[in-house]
Amino acid sequence: MRQIQEAIVADASAEELAALPIPETYRAAFVRRSDAEMFAGRESWEKDPRESIQIDHVPVPELAPDEALVAVMASSINFNTVWTSIFEPLSTFGFLDRLGKESVWGARHALDHHVIGSDGSGVVLRTGSGVRNWKTGDKVSIHCNYVDDQDPTSHDDSMMAANQRIWGFETNFGGLADLTVVKANQLMPKPTHLTWEESAVNALCGSTAFRMLVSNNASAMKQGDVVLIWGATGGLGGYAVQLVLNGGGVPVGVVSSPEKAELLKKIGCEAVIDRKAENYQFWSDPHTQDETEWRRFGKKIRELVGEDPNIIFEHPGRQTMGASVFVCRRGGAIVTCAATSGYMIEYDNRHLWMKLKRIVSSHFANYQEAWSMNRLIDRGAIHPILSEVYALEDVGEATRQVHQNRHEGKLGVLCLAPEEGLGIQDPDKRARIGEDKIGMFRR
Ligand code: NAP
Repeated sequence: MRQIQEAIVADASAEELAALPIPETYRAAFVRRSDAEMFAGRESWEKDPRESIQIDHVPVPELAPDEALVAVMASSINFNTVWTSIFEPLSTFGFLDRLGKESVWGARHALDHHVIGSDGSGVVLRTGSGVRNWKTGDKVSIHCNYVDDQDPTSHDDSMMAANQRIWGFETNFGGLADLTVVKANQLMPKPTHLTWEESAVNALCGSTAFRMLVSNNASAMKQGDVVLIWGATGGLGGYAVQLVLNGGGVPVGVVSSPEKAELLKKIGCEAVIDRKAENYQFWSDPHTQDETEWRRFGKKIRELVGEDPNIIFEHPGRQTMGASVFVCRRGGAIVTCAATSGYMIEYDNRHLWMKLKRIVSSHFANYQEAWSMNRLIDRGAIHPILSEVYALEDVGEATRQVHQNRHEGKLGVLCLAPEEGLGIQDPDKRARIGEDKIGMFRR
């Protein structure tokens, strides 16, 4: 692996990379099937990813004809890394076992260890015999939509495919490792002005935010739309704010500290609500929501931007959904992709139907949507929201930071990249776009 690392850092040719042997094992972050019950009886917040995430060597899987073997230079922590590591809402080994029953190639995934991670940047080392558009030496970023392209249901919007999965969450061989095996249709060109770690953090959260806001498959934001964004400096929110500004909308960002409020202003979001400072109590007890608090929240939004939101960018779920449905404008859309604070949702349906609001579901992004987001990043219209970088050995600690909501933006992870700052292919473009923009979330 050292030879592969040195060759990539030295910008070796495709021929040189093709001549290097692939090792039999590789370093990876994974959870173990035998640990699935280790947190039984503990509250969610007490479950510590540092206890469940292992860093060790695992066997390199065989490459299927439609796959590429990628040397992962960097990856990132996503909230699904948290879910896998605390075995909530269920153990991900069930996903792997189901995939294992689908085909001979699927059977490779049903192992007693699950290599996690749903983001990555790196270099293609080998391609399967059926891969046409990618070759050894290509520098890539990886999106996580894992789809069987021989399934007819995947050929309209591939997120509608009956067997659609998220790589590194519902499949094995994820990105938090020195190597990964991905389908060729997960590959995208690495943005040429970014480092490995800056290129590795965008695909999952950025593409999800793109589909939710920009795509016709969800809310299709128009110029001038007011968009309320929960968690506006988090992984999803940091891209959502940028997409709204880039598309001529008016973002209203919700955060939970003065530091995050300051960061939001820095990236150009003028309307900011600090939910902690305002002390909203949408739930007066675990079973009852308080409409007066929804009203107080709605009034604050009107004070800031003069009108109600056309779109609500929803993901906290149970804690916020009642308020989200209430404050959305007549005819507006609540677009939801998650439920971090609880998935059994309650809202007052009268506010939904009487004002003709829509709840729109959204989940990751199809290849076209992920590619469009990657293109915006490559053109310097949207920037990475990388705040901090961890070593692969410290994935447990990084995941804990995200679980405890102590982070901003995205946490990057160095895999084969020996240090930060490597991988920039076009320094002139980087200078034109500006370090201040590219590094706006850096701590
Ligand atoms: P993140 O980086 O942790 O950001 C989430 C933000 O939400 C936090 O920064 C926090 O901001 C805010 N938040 C958390 N709990 C809240 C609550 N109870 N009330 C209001 N705000 C709250 O996570 P992320 O990457 O953005 O992901 C967010 C959720 O979306 C996760 O559940 C994740 O699994 C899911 N997700 C789904 C998809 C998909 O394809 N379906 C894709 C990506 C992520 P403040 O504390 O500053 O308010």
